[in-house]
Amino acid sequence: MSQTLATEQRPLRVAIIGAGPSGFYAADALFRAKIPVVVDAFDRLPTPFGLLRGGVAPDHQQMKTVGKYYERVAATPGFSFWGNVKVGQDISVEELKRHYDVLIFSSGAETDRHLEIPGESLIGSNTATAFVGWYNGHPDYRDHPFDLTAEAVAIIGQGNVAIDVARILAKTPHELKDSDIADHAMQALAKTNIKDIYLIGRRGPVQSAFTELEIKELGELEDCDVIVNPKDMVLNAESQAELDDPTNNKARKNVAVLHEFSTRQPQGKKKRIHVLFFKSPIAMNGESHVTGLTLEHNHLEGPAGKQKAVASGETETLPCTLVFRSVGYRGVPIEGVPFDPKRGVFPNEAGRILDGVAPVPGMYCSGWIKRGPSGVLGTNKPDSAATIASVLEDVPNLKGCDVPDSEAVRAVLNSRQVQVVSFEDWKHLDAEEVRRGETVGKPREKFTRVEDVLSFLRSVLIEK
Ligand code: NAP
Repeated sequence: MSQTLATEQRPLRVAIIGAGPSGFYAADALFRAKIPVVVDAFDRLPTPFGLLRGGVAPDHQQMKTVGKYYERVAATPGFSFWGNVKVGQDISVEELKRHYDVLIFSSGAETDRHLEIPGESLIGSNTATAFVGWYNGHPDYRDHPFDLTAEAVAIIGQGNVAIDVARILAKTPHELKDSDIADHAMQALAKTNIKDIYLIGRRGPVQSAFTELEIKELGELEDCDVIVNPKDMVLNAESQAELDDPTNNKARKNVAVLHEFSTRQPQGKKKRIHVLFFKSPIAMNGESHVTGLTLEHNHLEGPAGKQKAVASGETETLPCTLVFRSVGYRGVPIEGVPFDPKRGVFPNEAGRILDGVAPVPGMYCSGWIKRGPSGVLGTNKPDSAATIASVLEDVPNLKGCDVPDSEAVRAVLNSRQVQVVSFEDWKHLDAEEVRRGETVGKPREKFTRVEDVLSFLRSVLIEK
């Protein structure tokens, strides 16, 4: 029976799947619409905030202050956090549909794109995602082995994730002391033998994907020189045209920083970051472990703004035994939701999930699973607001769910022994992490295992 939704008698019931930045901005936009609404935000981890906690670099504490905004959203009446619930495993999408009128998937892009080159799966070849997760104490990657005895490390790709990885590898323990880097990572990084870090781009300085602030930081490190070959700063006519484009501020700022780097003399510091351009990886060498990375030199072809890297035939091999692939993220499918395997997103139009060309009633997406892995945290605010605009437009035509009751969802999860983590639980955990951090002079010391989180929360419950 269809019913009028978003009324005092029958608030709109929304499940958000993925309580990261885009999920919180979706909840925020729903509350700003001032309609009667219940928002249950599910996350597979027992902690909220997604990439803010597990992706943003631990030495970029200023960026973490946006967490206060998400906390205010969480404090809005009608909002509940359901942590430690794996949608598609602990509860199916079909089951959620029985209890919610609207499902919004904001599950992000959890895995990496592949290079498709020989040797990519050798020991020593890692995804940047794994390393970022590892130093941020993400439970999925907490025990991932990285051989930091390597002297030479290659990072493939020149986006901001690649810069984060290079900077964390290059910093001294002193430079990391005020960060919330996971303790296991701090200990391991303090003992590394790393001397040379290669940051490898297939195109040129004008096309680099990183941003000014991030590349600039590489030039301010305590015990690491940054090296750019002046020859790479000589631009072809098309790159010069890209640089002269008045809308291309990003390239101009990046090139100015790189140009200054190219004039520097190395100061004999312990580590060196070599920013390499016009080089594509074509093979990782070795039997079981990576012993070297073969690069092919490129030149650029094509019109300004659309230049592609074209191999010149010349190759070189770097003696790297540790490689990080940082060439972009990909979303993963959830059973019961249409998926575009080519782009790694949920196919959608203005956030409405599509099955072929038709929208699936009541199913929406926001964030990286909607548009692909691009933009900073704040990019998700207008992106999620656009999805919510679609939801609000559709509300009059939505068929309400059959059992509009969150307690029925809780009963299902209880029957499956899922220990659901609430926002109040998270606050206990948050306070404990901050307390543990204070004892060692850090902003927080994170719990890095799901089981440790759950047993800590059980102990809090007993104390109460
Ligand atoms: P990204 O910005 O898309 O960069 C991907 C890099 O990989 C590019 O340099 C790209 O080069 C290269 N690449 C792609 N395929 C390749 C291949 N087959 N061989 C060699 N290189 C290849 O991705 P990201 O670094 O993962 O970052 C994702 C998003 O998060 C970005 O929007 C980023 O700005 C954001 N982020 C922001 C911050 C921050 O604000 N501090 C920190 C981390 C991440 P081409 O250009 O030639 O394709």
